[in-house]
Amino acid sequence: MRVYISADMEGATGVVNVDQTDRGKPEYAFGCRMQLHDVNAVIEGLLDMGVEDILVNDSHDRMINLDIGGLNPEARLLSGWPKTMGMLEGYEGADAVFFVGYHAMAGTRRAVLDHTVSGGRVYSVELNGVEVGEIGLNAAACAARGLPVALVTGDRAACDEAEKLLGPGVTTACVKTAHGRSSADCLAPEVSSVVLREAAASAVERIRKNEAPRMDIGDGAFDLRITFHTTAQCDQAAVLPCSDRLGGRTLRVCGSGMAEMRRWANVMIGLGGA
Ligand SMILES: [Zn+2]
Repeated sequence: MRVYISADMEGATGVVNVDQTDRGKPEYAFGCRMQLHDVNAVIEGLLDMGVEDILVNDSHDRMINLDIGGLNPEARLLSGWPKTMGMLEGYEGADAVFFVGYHAMAGTRRAVLDHTVSGGRVYSVELNGVEVGEIGLNAAACAARGLPVALVTGDRAACDEAEKLLGPGVTTACVKTAHGRSSADCLAPEVSSVVLREAAASAVERIRKNEAPRMDIGDGAFDLRITFHTTAQCDQAAVLPCSDRLGGRTLRVCGSGMAEMRRWANVMIGLGGA
């Protein structure tokens, strides 16, 4: 079995403040350490279940956060940026996908570092009429390749968002419960490592029983709407051909194929920050 891990940082054990995820801040070293901690705990769970092919994609910011020197050598690391599929680069050919260290969508109450792709640019994202965050955007792209999302780890809000989107078949592992955007009641790493390891193992059981969920994406046609914080950001993104300006802050792209949709989302949001 081949399991693909998309590893973000905001949902890692103990991470509560943006400075811990920002490469320019001294606290960033802690964020990197905790992202690696959670990824290694999940890998242990996969190894417990006899999974031999494990690919980890560093999915935060410049995607060079995970120190390969400390990664369990049974896994391979896809490091660096830019990558065509971003948070899902190299996911083709896996049997299932894990989202580790994930966070809730922009606008979620009591969610550590809630945002959708870019906190500074994106107010909200709607996919086919449903508000989604990174969990939803990425799960849709996984479904386009027939891939189930078997495990989601992060804070309580991220786990709730995943269960609401994907149903009870998705295994979740909660490592902290937010009191606000930048505060949370956190499990100690010694404890969260056990929670993550056991959750990864039960996710593998569900993959084997074909119970891990694929997001329902219909025929793959998409109507993707990004609402930016400002009209200036939307002006910048609206230079994209094939896009429709729906209002001061909102831009739409329609098409077919959810993997394409995921790339459009990155392009639109990327341009918004130009
Ligand atoms: Zn991130």
